[in-house]
Amino acid sequence: MENTTDFHLFESEVGRHLLVVDGSRLYDISQELPTDEGTLSKLVEEISPAGSQRIDGTALSPPPLQTLSLNVAQTCNMGCSYCYAGQGAFGGKPKLMSYDVAEASVDRLIAESGEGADLVIGFMGGEPFVNRPLLCSIMPYAERAAAAARRTVRFSLTTNATLLEPDDAKLLARHRTQVAVSIDGPKAVNDAVRPMNDGSSSYDRLIRGLQLFEKHGRPYHLSARITVTPSARDLPGILDHVLSLGFDSAGFSPVLVSLDPSQALEQTDFDWMLEGMIASGQKAQQSILAGKRYSFSNFETALQEIDRGSHRPYPCGAGAAYLSVSADGGLYACHRLVEDPKHRFGDVWSGSDYSARASHLTARHVDRQEPCRSCWARYLCGGGCYHEVDRRGRPACDYIRGWLEFCLASYVVLKERAPDYFRNPDLYFDTTVAGRLQSAYSDN
Ligand code: SF4
Ligand code: SF4
Repeated sequence: MENTTDFHLFESEVGRHLLVVDGSRLYDISQELPTDEGTLSKLVEEISPAGSQRIDGTALSPPPLQTLSLNVAQTCNMGCSYCYAGQGAFGGKPKLMSYDVAEASVDRLIAESGEGADLVIGFMGGEPFVNRPLLCSIMPYAERAAAAARRTVRFSLTTNATLLEPDDAKLLARHRTQVAVSIDGPKAVNDAVRPMNDGSSSYDRLIRGLQLFEKHGRPYHLSARITVTPSARDLPGILDHVLSLGFDSAGFSPVLVSLDPSQALEQTDFDWMLEGMIASGQKAQQSILAGKRYSFSNFETALQEIDRGSHRPYPCGAGAAYLSVSADGGLYACHRLVEDPKHRFGDVWSGSDYSARASHLTARHVDRQEPCRSCWARYLCGGGCYHEVDRRGRPACDYIRGWLEFCLASYVVLKERAPDYFRNPDLYFDTTVAGRLQSAYSDN
């Protein structure tokens, strides 16, 4: 397929298509149109004339803050073999965030947010429930403080779910929290890489945690985060198992950076990773066509971004509208970059360092990265996670492009055969289920 800095030609079950990189615009290409580079370049010049590009290399100025993650417990009750953070301590001593730091964090987020903003506070670790009393007190405070400042606030929390108690489930349900649970597959697969600190199984404790959610209060959204290490290759089987546990969605995240390098994927591992991702994506595509839920979050997120025409010169909001607070109140680009002096952008008392954030956004613009500036996937990918790129480089680019090409091809098929899915996925599944019930009723 022709493939340049400015466009990418690809095929799907329903025809040939062109991604115009500027603006992530998609076009169907007739079978008669020559697809040599010269013809397509001319076409792309008409769509996106020089000087009118939607992303022109100008760096983003730091926007108002919208999301802050609080590392409430830089320590953990588990000993995962691949952890990038050394059980949450990031190479330092284990620490718990005090109430004063958490309150100052909430106040800082409100002070640096825009009028009427819809704010998000994430709780991370280590394991956040190691610092349970803080969670119980800071959530109500954040809601009161946001309301007084005419903002709204939502919460997210990433947990291993092994310390959950009935009151924790009630707390998260009451405060409308999106909960992400880390689980890596069936019991044997999960326990091989996610043991408790004493080496015992975490799986049974995690299942008990999920049962507590069902019994005492289900979070607003319950997702699973599946970490992919070199030893667990059956991605479709793992995804089937995890979704069968009742999660609203589940997605994969490969290990690129680990304190134990044997737990990180090598370049050659991305071949089987891509195969597994595509097999899982194909199952999710078939499920959408059949009107059945099979919420593979990597796939659904990619579909939604392509549908929105998402084009961005950064991989994420780190250092822009998103910052992370260390247990002792330092502000960092994100939760993985906590305690990294190069990514320290102020503290919760004196405020975020605007000029350091601006320098970060200038340096990290994808058009200033090599080899990203000539990659057709750059405004969908954004140039790769800062944490991973700094420590590991970019070993997964063929995998990223292969996955995006699959998602683009799947998108055009679904857009043609299941357009209602893109209008409102929740309504789409509810309606198709109702349709099946109705026809089953009529048949009888
Ligand atoms: S990180 Fe790789 S895939 Fe992503 S934009 Fe850069 S070169 Fe392309
Ligand atoms: S830098 Fe990496 S880990 Fe941090 S928010 Fe961005 S993508 Fe996520």
